[in-house]
Amino acid sequence: MTQNLLFDAPMPPVIPIKGEARAFPVRRIFCVGRNYAAHAAEMGNEVDREAPFYFTKSAHALCLSGAQIAYPLGTQDCHYEMELVVAMGGDAFHISKERALDAIFGYACGIDLTRRDLQAAAKDKRRPWDLGKDFENAAIIAPITKAGAFGTPGPQPITLSHNGERVQEALLSDMVWSVPELIAHLSQFYHLRPGDLIYTGTPAGVGPIMPGSELLGEIEDLEAVHITVAPKE
Ligand code: MN
Repeated sequence: MTQNLLFDAPMPPVIPIKGEARAFPVRRIFCVGRNYAAHAAEMGNEVDREAPFYFTKSAHALCLSGAQIAYPLGTQDCHYEMELVVAMGGDAFHISKERALDAIFGYACGIDLTRRDLQAAAKDKRRPWDLGKDFENAAIIAPITKAGAFGTPGPQPITLSHNGERVQEALLSDMVWSVPELIAHLSQFYHLRPGDLIYTGTPAGVGPIMPGSELLGEIEDLEAVHITVAPKE
């Protein structure tokens, strides 16, 4: 018997899929920290060569490409971070890096919005990053391209333009931990399942958005991600 619910349960957020009528329902959002050496350096950190590290965002932080968002609450310094997003289509639990790519449904361009001032305050006090990372519209994503239509992450350029100016530029092969290595590692701590997303880290060149900002993020052979920030009233 189905339990009666006190209020209507929200549907999971869904992402359009290129060339597919059905949409991708989102389960969990994992994000990788410091996965490009030049970005770690610009933040005053060194890359940890021992193991990658992660934080999470609520699925309800998702925002689809094409939206106009309000300037985020409670911050004076909200940054863009352009990232490759991996969309899981299979189970991965203690998976080897040789088999990890088989569990991927597809890939998308994404932007990890970060309230940098709140993240920095949390770091100073050795507190969690949630206020800096997990908030409404903080996980921006473009339509998903199926893995077979993209290939394997490697030599593709990843770029972000802010108000028409190129601010981030790297190759996916610049990642410290490759996509198969990330999935193999993360699957030792979580049973990854279809619907899980992994934001794989940002290259150097992060910076602040402003009211009226336009962001355009591109990765070769994927759908671009584009948002605008509402102008000052
Ligand atoms: Mn990030």
